[in-house]
Amino acid sequence: MLLATSAGHAGNPSAAAGQTPATEANAKTQAGAKAQAQSQEAPKPQSEEAAEQPATPAQAGAKAQTQAQKGTTEGLPKAQNIDLQEPIQGAELVAPDGTTADAAPAVEATPDDLVGAQPFVLLGREVPPATSTRLAWAPSQSFEGIYAATPVLVVHGKKPGPVLCLTAAIHGDELNGIETVRRVLYNLDPNKLAGTVVGVPIVNLQGFHRHSRYLSDRRDLNRFFPGDPDGSSASRIAHSFFHEVISHCDALVDLHTGSYYRTNLPQLRADLTNPGVVALTKGFGATVVLHSEGAEGTLRRAAVNQGIPAVTLEAGASMLLDETSVEHSSKAIQTLLNHMEMVSKFRLWGDPEPVYYTSTWQRAPMGGVIFSEVALGESVSKGDLLGTITNPITNVRTEIHSAYDGRVLGMALNQFVQPGFAAYHIGIRAPEEKVPAPAAAADSNASGQVSPAAEPLPDTEVPSDEQPDAPDSGDDAFEDG
Ligand SMILES: [Zn+2]
Repeated sequence: MLLATSAGHAGNPSAAAGQTPATEANAKTQAGAKAQAQSQEAPKPQSEEAAEQPATPAQAGAKAQTQAQKGTTEGLPKAQNIDLQEPIQGAELVAPDGTTADAAPAVEATPDDLVGAQPFVLLGREVPPATSTRLAWAPSQSFEGIYAATPVLVVHGKKPGPVLCLTAAIHGDELNGIETVRRVLYNLDPNKLAGTVVGVPIVNLQGFHRHSRYLSDRRDLNRFFPGDPDGSSASRIAHSFFHEVISHCDALVDLHTGSYYRTNLPQLRADLTNPGVVALTKGFGATVVLHSEGAEGTLRRAAVNQGIPAVTLEAGASMLLDETSVEHSSKAIQTLLNHMEMVSKFRLWGDPEPVYYTSTWQRAPMGGVIFSEVALGESVSKGDLLGTITNPITNVRTEIHSAYDGRVLGMALNQFVQPGFAAYHIGIRAPEEKVPAPAAAADSNASGQVSPAAEPLPDTEVPSDEQPDAPDSGDDAFEDG
């Protein structure tokens, strides 16, 4: 077992305390059906009903798409031009109809200056060239009538160029990406940008509010893309986000962290069998790249399947904000903007080549308290001591030694682990062109006390839509964290 290509898991039972999933699902089904019916009507011109009520972003988006297909954005409300760095005082951030409550007057760009530049249409708003704005995406109306809207930041450059999308907190407990998106977006000058950067700092607002990786129905949103408008709640949310936002992207960076008290060295997860994805990985400066197709249902994989080059940028651990990870991620994305020729003046990162890896996991052979002897990112040789596990009851101590020459790309934080816990993620360096092929070197059973390579791949079935209570496979670490 080499490549990180296995599957996920469904629920964290503790994540749904107090929820009544069946009732909620029913309510959402009804609300969703209603929203769908409405959105089917949406393509017709502004109806009286639409004039009376603020359009939901889904309705407005459908209109925008229809209008865009007609080659006109006539009639779309213009997004306000906002200085994203300017803090919002007091007022509600995002109104349910997708507008920002901030009442800053729109600053019209000089027409002469912008000949040839096109407005960017997203979520039912027209963003003029050389402006920044906050929009809102809401998957559908919940039974209360209003779904909490997720802020979507847009910086639309003065010059034409690609649309780069940055998404974070699809897992609601992963915080580093939120701050990374803020730093990148708030430091962009639309007057100096070629193309468009769309940043969604918190995709899974439901999980974020509960400090949970999951949606409120205990499903992992990152297993449901590209979604289904008639499917489960998670599937509908995924479908809405994919079609309202992601389908407008030319490239995607989805930000994640390690899961379950594991931390990751900043790294890209990328399907290196895809040339467009490989090209994208070369833009992140000195960021290591781990080959992985991505589990079925991940946003990254769904985007790649739709022809949008996408990578996951993993950095740090869940529930922690660490400056090292945020700094690296921000720098990596700024380097990417430079590489994509969207900005010209960002500090360059010396433009070092990425380093490609295959990888394997070293597991805990027994349960107990794990303490590490290595640091994240450290190079290790076969036989090196990675850490120890001590049973607090029997006082039996076991050592975990590296089975390979490699580098620690991810590792457990010190904690109590169960036998079989994936504790150390060892990257094995390989030339880019060889990474996707199974590397024989790492498949042999190693001499370490654990033998991750000998284990079969964890259950690769994506948890069924119908089984929100499916037990956690425990092998999430194989996946995008
Ligand atoms: Zn994640």
